[in-house]
Amino acid sequence: MAYQITLIPGDGIGPEVAFAAQACLDATQVPIQWEILPAGKQSIAQCGSPLSENLLNSIKRNKIALKGPVTTPIGKGHRSVNVQLRQVLDLYVNVRPCRIYPGIVTPFKRVDLVLIRENTEDLYAGIEYAEGGQETGDLIGWVRAHGGKTINQDSAISLKAISRKGSERIIRFAFEYALKYGRKKVTAVHKANIMKYTDGLFLDVFRKVASEYQGRVAYEDQLVDSLCMRLVQSPESYDVLVLPNLYGDIVSDLCAGLIGGLGVAPGVNLGNEIAVFEPVHGSAPQMEGQNKANPTAMILSGVLLLRYLGETKAADILEWAVSEVLCEGHFVTCDLKTEAGVCRTGTKEMADAIIQKMRFRQMEQKKAVCEGSKHGK
Ligand code: NAD
Repeated sequence: MAYQITLIPGDGIGPEVAFAAQACLDATQVPIQWEILPAGKQSIAQCGSPLSENLLNSIKRNKIALKGPVTTPIGKGHRSVNVQLRQVLDLYVNVRPCRIYPGIVTPFKRVDLVLIRENTEDLYAGIEYAEGGQETGDLIGWVRAHGGKTINQDSAISLKAISRKGSERIIRFAFEYALKYGRKKVTAVHKANIMKYTDGLFLDVFRKVASEYQGRVAYEDQLVDSLCMRLVQSPESYDVLVLPNLYGDIVSDLCAGLIGGLGVAPGVNLGNEIAVFEPVHGSAPQMEGQNKANPTAMILSGVLLLRYLGETKAADILEWAVSEVLCEGHFVTCDLKTEAGVCRTGTKEMADAIIQKMRFRQMEQKKAVCEGSKHGK
Protein backbone atom coordinates (compact mmCIF):
# COMPACT_ATOMS: atom_id res chain seq x y z
CA MET A 1 0.00 0.00 0.00
CA ALA A 2 1.21 3.50 -0.81
CA TYR A 3 2.20 5.92 1.93
CA GLN A 4 -0.11 8.97 2.09
CA ILE A 5 2.03 12.08 2.48
CA THR A 6 1.02 15.73 2.50
CA LEU A 7 3.15 17.85 0.17
CA ILE A 8 3.20 21.60 0.82
CA PRO A 9 5.01 23.41 -2.01
CA GLY A 10 5.01 26.75 -0.12
CA ASP A 11 6.07 30.18 -1.40
CA GLY A 12 8.97 31.69 -3.36
CA ILE A 13 11.44 28.96 -4.33
CA GLY A 14 9.31 26.47 -2.36
CA PRO A 15 7.43 24.91 -5.32
CA GLU A 16 10.63 24.54 -7.37
CA VAL A 17 12.54 22.68 -4.65
CA ALA A 18 9.47 20.79 -3.39
CA PHE A 19 8.59 19.36 -6.82
CA ALA A 20 12.26 18.53 -7.42
CA ALA A 21 12.29 16.58 -4.15
CA GLN A 22 8.98 14.92 -4.99
CA ALA A 23 10.44 13.68 -8.29
CA CYS A 24 13.52 12.30 -6.49
CA LEU A 25 11.42 10.52 -3.87
CA ASP A 26 9.18 9.04 -6.57
CA ALA A 27 12.28 7.81 -8.40
CA THR A 28 13.26 5.73 -5.34
CA GLN A 29 10.19 3.62 -6.22
CA VAL A 30 8.84 3.80 -2.68
CA PRO A 31 5.06 3.99 -3.28
CA ILE A 32 3.87 7.39 -2.15
CA GLN A 33 0.51 9.02 -2.77
CA TRP A 34 0.98 12.77 -2.45
CA GLU A 35 -1.74 15.05 -1.18
CA ILE A 36 -0.63 18.45 -2.49
CA LEU A 37 -1.98 21.42 -0.55
CA PRO A 38 -1.05 25.09 -0.45
CA ALA A 39 0.12 27.20 2.48
CA GLY A 40 1.04 30.87 2.51
CA LYS A 41 0.22 33.16 -0.42
CA GLN A 42 -1.51 30.56 -2.58
CA SER A 43 -3.63 29.47 0.34
CA ILE A 44 -4.60 33.09 1.09
CA ALA A 45 -5.70 33.44 -2.55
CA GLN A 46 -7.73 30.23 -2.39
CA CYS A 47 -9.36 30.41 1.02
CA GLY A 48 -8.34 33.66 2.69
CA SER A 49 -6.03 32.07 5.22
CA PRO A 50 -2.31 31.18 4.95
CA LEU A 51 -2.88 28.03 7.01
CA SER A 52 -6.17 26.32 6.16
CA GLU A 53 -8.14 23.77 8.16
CA ASN A 54 -7.95 21.60 5.08
CA LEU A 55 -4.15 21.52 5.27
CA LEU A 56 -4.10 20.92 9.03
CA ASN A 57 -6.58 18.04 8.62
CA SER A 58 -4.50 16.51 5.85
CA ILE A 59 -1.35 16.55 8.04
CA LYS A 60 -3.26 15.20 11.02
CA ARG A 61 -4.66 12.39 8.89
CA ASN A 62 -1.44 11.45 7.09
CA LYS A 63 0.85 12.18 10.05
CA ILE A 64 3.68 12.98 7.62
CA ALA A 65 4.30 16.04 5.48
CA LEU A 66 7.06 17.33 3.23
CA LYS A 67 6.98 21.11 3.34
CA GLY A 68 8.54 23.85 1.26
CA PRO A 69 9.30 27.22 2.87
CA VAL A 70 6.55 29.78 3.41
CA THR A 71 7.05 33.55 3.33
CA THR A 72 6.29 35.57 6.47
CA PRO A 73 5.92 39.31 5.93
CA ILE A 74 8.38 41.25 8.12
CA GLY A 75 6.85 43.42 10.84
CA LYS A 76 3.24 43.53 9.68
CA GLY A 77 0.86 41.05 8.02
CA HIS A 78 -0.01 37.48 8.97
CA ARG A 79 1.88 35.61 11.67
CA SER A 80 4.37 32.97 10.60
CA VAL A 81 2.69 29.90 9.10
CA ASN A 82 5.76 27.91 10.15
CA VAL A 83 5.53 28.92 13.79
CA GLN A 84 1.74 28.37 13.83
CA LEU A 85 2.04 24.94 12.26
CA ARG A 86 4.59 23.84 14.85
CA GLN A 87 2.43 25.16 17.69
CA VAL A 88 -0.94 23.88 16.49
CA LEU A 89 0.42 20.37 15.79
CA ASP A 90 2.69 20.48 18.86
CA LEU A 91 5.76 19.71 16.76
CA TYR A 92 8.03 20.51 19.66
CA VAL A 93 11.27 19.14 18.20
CA ASN A 94 13.22 20.53 15.29
CA VAL A 95 16.11 18.31 14.20
CA ARG A 96 18.68 19.80 11.84
CA PRO A 97 21.59 17.52 10.94
CA CYS A 98 24.65 19.39 9.63
CA ARG A 99 27.40 17.52 7.84
CA ILE A 100 29.73 18.34 5.01
CA TYR A 101 29.20 16.22 1.90
CA PRO A 102 32.33 15.51 -0.18
CA GLY A 103 32.69 18.01 -3.01
CA ILE A 104 31.18 20.95 -1.12
CA VAL A 105 33.74 23.66 -0.64
CA THR A 106 33.76 25.22 2.81
CA PRO A 107 36.62 26.50 4.99
CA PHE A 108 35.92 23.61 7.39
CA LYS A 109 37.24 20.07 7.18
CA ARG A 110 34.97 18.15 9.46
CA VAL A 111 31.48 19.13 10.54
CA ASP A 112 29.07 16.46 11.61
CA LEU A 113 26.71 17.76 14.23
CA VAL A 114 22.99 17.69 14.91
CA LEU A 115 21.13 20.73 16.12
CA ILE A 116 18.00 20.06 18.17
CA ARG A 117 15.83 23.12 18.63
CA GLU A 118 12.80 23.55 20.89
CA ASN A 119 10.02 24.54 18.54
CA THR A 120 7.03 25.85 20.49
CA GLU A 121 8.10 28.16 23.35
CA ASP A 122 10.45 31.06 24.03
CA LEU A 123 10.17 34.39 22.23
CA TYR A 124 8.67 32.53 19.25
CA ALA A 125 5.43 31.72 21.08
CA GLY A 126 3.96 34.85 19.45
CA ILE A 127 2.91 36.54 22.71
CA GLU A 128 3.46 40.11 21.68
CA TYR A 129 2.10 43.53 22.56
CA ALA A 130 2.26 46.39 20.08
CA GLU A 131 3.56 49.87 20.83
CA GLY A 132 0.81 52.12 22.18
CA GLY A 133 -1.74 49.31 22.75
CA GLN A 134 -4.02 49.27 25.79
CA GLU A 135 -2.67 45.90 26.96
CA THR A 136 0.89 47.10 26.45
CA GLY A 137 0.22 50.05 28.73
CA ASP A 138 -1.43 47.75 31.30
CA LEU A 139 1.53 45.40 31.18
CA ILE A 140 4.01 48.25 31.59
CA GLY A 141 2.01 49.43 34.59
CA TRP A 142 1.82 45.92 36.05
CA VAL A 143 5.58 45.42 35.73
CA ARG A 144 6.27 48.75 37.41
CA ALA A 145 3.90 47.87 40.24
CA HIS A 146 5.32 44.37 40.76
CA GLY A 147 8.98 44.49 39.92
CA GLY A 148 9.85 48.12 40.32
CA LYS A 149 11.32 48.14 36.81
CA THR A 150 10.53 50.89 34.34
CA ILE A 151 9.71 50.03 30.75
CA ASN A 152 9.55 52.99 28.37
CA GLN A 153 5.93 53.87 27.49
CA ASP A 154 6.66 53.72 23.77
CA SER A 155 7.82 50.11 23.96
CA ALA A 156 6.53 47.07 22.13
CA ILE A 157 6.83 43.87 24.18
CA SER A 158 7.44 40.21 23.33
CA LEU A 159 7.19 37.67 26.12
CA LYS A 160 9.77 34.96 26.60
CA ALA A 161 8.27 31.95 28.37
CA ILE A 162 10.23 28.74 28.92
CA SER A 163 8.55 25.95 30.85
CA ARG A 164 9.92 22.99 32.79
CA LYS A 165 7.77 20.58 30.76
CA GLY A 166 8.80 22.14 27.42
CA SER A 167 12.47 22.08 28.39
CA GLU A 168 12.38 18.56 29.75
CA ARG A 169 10.83 16.97 26.68
CA ILE A 170 13.28 18.59 24.24
CA ILE A 171 16.32 17.86 26.39
CA ARG A 172 15.24 14.26 26.94
CA PHE A 173 14.71 13.96 23.18
CA ALA A 174 18.29 15.19 22.61
CA PHE A 175 19.77 12.55 24.94
CA GLU A 176 17.62 9.76 23.51
CA TYR A 177 18.63 10.88 20.01
CA ALA A 178 22.31 10.76 21.02
CA LEU A 179 21.88 7.22 22.37
CA LYS A 180 19.92 6.02 19.32
CA TYR A 181 22.40 7.36 16.78
CA GLY A 182 25.62 6.67 18.70
CA ARG A 183 26.41 10.32 19.33
CA LYS A 184 28.86 11.00 22.12
CA LYS A 185 28.01 14.39 23.61
CA VAL A 186 25.09 16.75 24.15
CA THR A 187 25.74 20.48 24.58
CA ALA A 188 22.99 22.68 26.03
CA VAL A 189 23.06 26.23 24.74
CA HIS A 190 21.72 29.13 26.81
CA LYS A 191 22.29 32.59 28.23
CA ALA A 192 21.49 31.74 31.83
CA ASN A 193 24.00 34.25 33.19
CA ILE A 194 21.69 37.04 31.99
CA MET A 195 18.25 35.40 31.68
CA LYS A 196 18.41 33.77 35.05
CA TYR A 197 14.82 32.58 35.24
CA THR A 198 14.01 31.47 31.68
CA ASP A 199 17.37 30.19 30.43
CA GLY A 200 18.21 29.39 34.05
CA LEU A 201 15.24 27.00 34.12
CA PHE A 202 16.34 25.42 30.81
CA LEU A 203 19.83 24.87 32.26
CA ASP A 204 18.51 23.52 35.54
CA VAL A 205 16.34 20.97 33.70
CA PHE A 206 19.30 20.09 31.44
CA ARG A 207 21.52 19.28 34.43
CA LYS A 208 18.84 17.11 36.02
CA VAL A 209 18.04 15.18 32.82
CA ALA A 210 21.74 14.87 31.92
CA SER A 211 22.51 13.22 35.26
CA GLU A 212 20.18 10.36 34.25
CA TYR A 213 22.42 9.68 31.23
CA GLN A 214 25.68 9.86 33.19
CA GLY A 215 28.21 7.37 31.82
CA ARG A 216 26.20 6.86 28.60
CA VAL A 217 26.34 10.29 26.96
CA ALA A 218 28.78 13.08 27.82
CA TYR A 219 27.32 16.53 28.38
CA GLU A 220 28.25 20.16 28.81
CA ASP A 221 26.56 23.53 28.62
CA GLN A 222 27.68 26.70 26.91
CA LEU A 223 26.65 30.34 26.59
CA VAL A 224 25.17 31.01 23.16
CA ASP A 225 27.59 33.83 22.30
CA SER A 226 30.66 31.79 23.16
CA LEU A 227 29.19 28.81 21.26
CA CYS A 228 28.89 30.93 18.10
CA MET A 229 32.55 31.84 18.28
CA ARG A 230 33.72 28.29 18.95
CA LEU A 231 31.47 26.88 16.23
CA VAL A 232 33.34 28.86 13.59
CA GLN A 233 36.73 28.06 15.15
CA SER A 234 36.33 24.36 15.88
CA PRO A 235 32.99 22.94 14.77
CA GLU A 236 34.38 19.43 15.18
CA SER A 237 34.18 19.89 18.98
CA TYR A 238 30.38 19.56 18.82
CA ASP A 239 28.12 16.60 18.39
CA VAL A 240 24.50 17.23 19.47
CA LEU A 241 23.37 20.74 20.38
CA VAL A 242 20.10 21.35 22.23
CA LEU A 243 18.74 24.90 22.26
CA PRO A 244 15.68 26.95 23.13
CA ASN A 245 13.70 28.18 20.13
CA LEU A 246 15.27 31.55 19.22
CA TYR A 247 18.91 30.51 19.68
CA GLY A 248 18.11 27.33 17.75
CA ASP A 249 16.79 29.31 14.80
CA ILE A 250 19.82 31.59 14.65
CA VAL A 251 22.50 28.98 15.33
CA SER A 252 21.05 26.61 12.72
CA ASP A 253 21.65 29.18 9.98
CA LEU A 254 25.19 29.57 11.30
CA CYS A 255 25.62 25.78 11.14
CA ALA A 256 24.23 25.78 7.57
CA GLY A 257 27.01 28.24 6.76
CA LEU A 258 29.58 25.76 8.05
CA ILE A 259 28.47 23.03 5.67
CA GLY A 260 28.08 24.98 2.42
CA GLY A 261 25.05 27.19 2.92
CA LEU A 262 21.29 27.08 3.34
CA GLY A 263 20.91 25.21 0.06
CA VAL A 264 22.20 21.99 1.64
CA ALA A 265 20.73 22.04 5.17
CA PRO A 266 17.76 19.68 5.76
CA GLY A 267 15.46 19.36 8.76
CA VAL A 268 12.39 17.86 10.37
CA ASN A 269 9.80 19.03 12.90
CA LEU A 270 8.58 16.24 15.16
CA GLY A 271 5.75 15.82 17.61
CA ASN A 272 4.70 12.64 19.36
CA GLU A 273 2.82 11.40 16.30
CA ILE A 274 3.38 13.84 13.44
CA ALA A 275 6.49 14.65 11.40
CA VAL A 276 6.85 17.61 9.03
CA PHE A 277 10.05 17.52 6.98
CA GLU A 278 11.38 20.82 5.66
CA PRO A 279 14.68 22.46 4.74
CA VAL A 280 16.25 25.03 7.05
CA HIS A 281 16.08 27.72 4.38
CA GLY A 282 13.26 30.16 3.71
CA SER A 283 11.40 31.06 0.53
CA ALA A 284 14.22 33.28 -0.89
CA PRO A 285 11.65 35.37 -2.84
CA GLN A 286 14.32 37.10 -4.91
CA MET A 287 15.15 33.74 -6.55
CA GLU A 288 11.55 32.70 -7.18
CA GLY A 289 10.75 31.16 -10.56
CA GLN A 290 14.30 31.34 -11.89
CA ASN A 291 15.22 27.65 -11.59
CA LYS A 292 18.24 28.76 -9.52
CA ALA A 293 17.43 27.40 -6.07
CA ASN A 294 19.49 24.52 -4.76
CA PRO A 295 17.12 21.57 -4.21
CA THR A 296 19.60 19.63 -2.02
CA ALA A 297 18.22 20.74 1.36
CA MET A 298 14.71 19.77 0.33
CA ILE A 299 15.84 16.45 -1.16
CA LEU A 300 17.89 15.62 1.95
CA SER A 301 14.78 16.43 4.02
CA GLY A 302 13.16 13.75 1.84
CA VAL A 303 15.99 11.37 2.77
CA LEU A 304 15.18 12.01 6.45
CA LEU A 305 11.53 11.27 5.61
CA LEU A 306 12.41 7.93 4.02
CA ARG A 307 14.50 6.98 7.06
CA TYR A 308 11.59 7.94 9.31
CA LEU A 309 9.35 5.58 7.30
CA GLY A 310 11.93 2.81 7.72
CA GLU A 311 12.65 2.83 3.96
CA THR A 312 16.38 2.58 4.62
CA LYS A 313 17.41 1.17 1.23
CA ALA A 314 15.61 3.95 -0.62
CA ALA A 315 17.03 6.57 1.74
CA ASP A 316 20.55 5.19 1.24
CA ILE A 317 20.32 5.20 -2.55
CA LEU A 318 18.87 8.73 -2.66
CA GLU A 319 21.49 10.07 -0.25
CA TRP A 320 24.19 8.29 -2.24
CA ALA A 321 22.93 9.88 -5.48
CA VAL A 322 22.87 13.37 -3.92
CA SER A 323 26.36 12.81 -2.55
CA GLU A 324 27.68 11.64 -5.94
CA VAL A 325 26.24 14.64 -7.78
CA LEU A 326 27.67 17.02 -5.17
CA CYS A 327 31.05 15.30 -5.28
CA GLU A 328 31.31 15.38 -9.08
CA GLY A 329 30.30 19.06 -9.00
CA HIS A 330 29.08 19.23 -12.64
CA PHE A 331 25.32 19.34 -12.09
CA VAL A 332 25.16 21.58 -9.03
CA THR A 333 23.40 24.93 -8.69
CA CYS A 334 25.35 28.19 -8.72
CA ASP A 335 25.40 28.65 -4.91
CA LEU A 336 27.78 25.67 -4.76
CA LYS A 337 30.10 26.87 -7.51
CA THR A 338 33.21 28.46 -6.07
CA GLU A 339 34.84 29.76 -9.21
CA ALA A 340 33.14 32.66 -10.98
CA GLY A 341 31.85 31.74 -14.40
CA VAL A 342 28.87 30.39 -16.21
CA CYS A 343 26.67 28.07 -14.19
CA ARG A 344 24.19 26.27 -16.37
CA THR A 345 22.72 23.91 -13.84
CA GLY A 346 19.38 24.85 -12.42
CA THR A 347 17.12 23.31 -9.79
CA LYS A 348 15.52 20.95 -12.27
CA GLU A 349 18.77 19.85 -13.93
CA MET A 350 20.33 19.07 -10.54
CA ALA A 351 17.31 16.97 -9.52
CA ASP A 352 17.41 15.21 -12.92
CA ALA A 353 21.10 14.39 -12.42
CA ILE A 354 20.30 12.88 -9.00
CA ILE A 355 17.48 10.83 -10.52
CA GLN A 356 19.79 9.62 -13.31
CA LYS A 357 22.34 8.46 -10.72
CA MET A 358 19.64 6.56 -8.86
CA ARG A 359 18.30 4.93 -12.04
CA PHE A 360 21.80 3.77 -12.94
CA ARG A 361 22.35 2.29 -9.47
CA GLN A 362 18.90 0.64 -9.51
CA MET A 363 19.69 -0.95 -12.89
CA GLU A 364 23.05 -2.20 -11.61
CA GLN A 365 21.38 -3.69 -8.55
CA LYS A 366 18.75 -5.42 -10.71
CA LYS A 367 21.47 -6.77 -13.01
CA ALA A 368 23.39 -8.13 -10.02
CA VAL A 369 20.26 -9.90 -8.76
CA CYS A 370 19.65 -11.41 -12.23
CA GLU A 371 23.27 -12.55 -12.52
CA GLY A 372 23.06 -14.02 -9.04
CA SER A 373 19.94 -16.04 -9.81
CA LYS A 374 21.43 -17.18 -13.17
CA HIS A 375 24.39 -18.63 -11.32
CA GLY A 376 22.14 -20.17 -8.69
CA LYS A 377 23.36 -17.87 -5.92
P1 NAD B 1 16.07 32.52 3.07
O1 NAD B 1 16.54 31.26 3.69
O2 NAD B 1 14.84 32.45 2.28
O3 NAD B 1 17.20 33.11 2.14
C1 NAD B 1 18.43 33.65 2.57
C2 NAD B 1 19.44 33.55 1.43
O4 NAD B 1 19.94 32.22 1.40
C3 NAD B 1 18.82 33.78 0.06
O5 NAD B 1 18.91 35.11 -0.29
C4 NAD B 1 19.64 32.92 -0.84
O6 NAD B 1 20.80 33.62 -1.22
C5 NAD B 1 20.07 31.78 0.06
N1 NAD B 1 19.26 30.57 -0.13
C6 NAD B 1 18.25 30.14 0.65
N2 NAD B 1 17.78 28.99 0.20
C7 NAD B 1 18.50 28.67 -0.90
C8 NAD B 1 18.47 27.58 -1.83
N3 NAD B 1 17.64 26.56 -1.72
N4 NAD B 1 19.35 27.61 -2.85
C9 NAD B 1 20.24 28.62 -3.00
N5 NAD B 1 20.31 29.66 -2.14
C10 NAD B 1 19.44 29.70 -1.11
O7 NAD B 1 15.92 33.56 4.29
P2 NAD B 1 15.25 34.99 4.31
O8 NAD B 1 15.59 35.75 3.08
O9 NAD B 1 15.60 35.53 5.63
O10 NAD B 1 13.69 34.70 4.32
C11 NAD B 1 12.86 34.77 3.19
C12 NAD B 1 11.44 34.38 3.61
O11 NAD B 1 11.41 33.01 4.01
C13 NAD B 1 10.92 35.20 4.79
O12 NAD B 1 9.58 35.51 4.54
C14 NAD B 1 11.02 34.25 5.96
O13 NAD B 1 10.07 34.50 6.95
C15 NAD B 1 10.76 32.91 5.28
N6 NAD B 1 11.31 31.73 5.99
C16 NAD B 1 10.56 30.63 5.98
C17 NAD B 1 11.05 29.48 6.59
C18 NAD B 1 10.19 28.25 6.56
O14 NAD B 1 9.22 28.20 5.83
N7 NAD B 1 10.52 27.24 7.33
C19 NAD B 1 12.32 29.47 7.16
C20 NAD B 1 13.08 30.63 7.11
C21 NAD B 1 12.57 31.78 6.52
